[in-house]
Amino acid sequence: MTRRLTKLSRSVAGKVVLITGAGSGMGRATALLFADEGAKVAVTDFRSEGVESVTAEITGAGGTALGVLLDVADPTSIEAGLTMIRDELGRVDVLVNNAGISVRADPDDEDFDDRWQLALDVLLTPHQQLIRACLDDLRANGEGRVINISSTEGLGASRSTTPYTVAKHGVIGLTRAMAIELAKYGITVNAVCPGPILTSMTEAIQAEHRERFARRRTALRRYGDPEEVAHMVLNIALPSSSYVTGAVIAVDGGQTMKND
Ligand code: NAD
Repeated sequence: MTRRLTKLSRSVAGKVVLITGAGSGMGRATALLFADEGAKVAVTDFRSEGVESVTAEITGAGGTALGVLLDVADPTSIEAGLTMIRDELGRVDVLVNNAGISVRADPDDEDFDDRWQLALDVLLTPHQQLIRACLDDLRANGEGRVINISSTEGLGASRSTTPYTVAKHGVIGLTRAMAIELAKYGITVNAVCPGPILTSMTEAIQAEHRERFARRRTALRRYGDPEEVAHMVLNIALPSSSYVTGAVIAVDGGQTMKND
């Protein structure tokens, strides 16, 4: 066997990974990628079709997956889901807070307060609740990993989506605060900010509008694929990424740095 020249592990094999919103889009791509890399994946979502299909896809390919119905907006569901994951898989080593919805609202909309609350209830509050609920697991081996999915809306703002923008900015604040709080346990907490990615969240936008936006606003002049975000999540989750914490990483085809 060839002698290894580096001691820092680039493998998540055997790690238990909890991914929220894993039934579709980037969560699904992340679940499939971690399974390919030998991790045991807790495929969680509040939609049973997604949970079932992604779990079957992983196990059908010889990987290890546990399907769990988990609604991130319901603390009881978080507790029940975690009990099941601990019973079946033993613990949680890596938490990926990914579940999300698009929440649009204009400042003069009558239901603005309701939309605001919905955005916080799905996109922000559950992130901290899941981190705290997994804390005992994450600090057990001194290399726990939390990856929070924010957005380029966490770095800037667009029209008609204030509640979403505020929640995604909040995810970045939570990431930095928790990176400070949890550093003493060797837990790293990082945020990934996807730009325009082709998923069920963006497929409602007309193809022509998507293409025009991508050509004008991203350096790479195209939408990204969910797998391209999943690979960044995997990179941060590696044991070898032990000195990366509190980082906010755009996976946006160069959208946020582009001036012209
Ligand atoms: P998606 O709609 O394909 O996937 C989102 C998943 O979250 C779905 O499977 C859905 O069932 C699940 N979900 C929604 N509410 C939930 C709840 N209460 N409990 C559990 N699961 C729930 O969308 P996506 O684009 O893959 O989104 C993943 C994340 O990426 C979201 O946080 C989203 O805000 C963020 N994001 C998306 C884009 C993009 O362009 N697609 C850009 C930036 C950020």
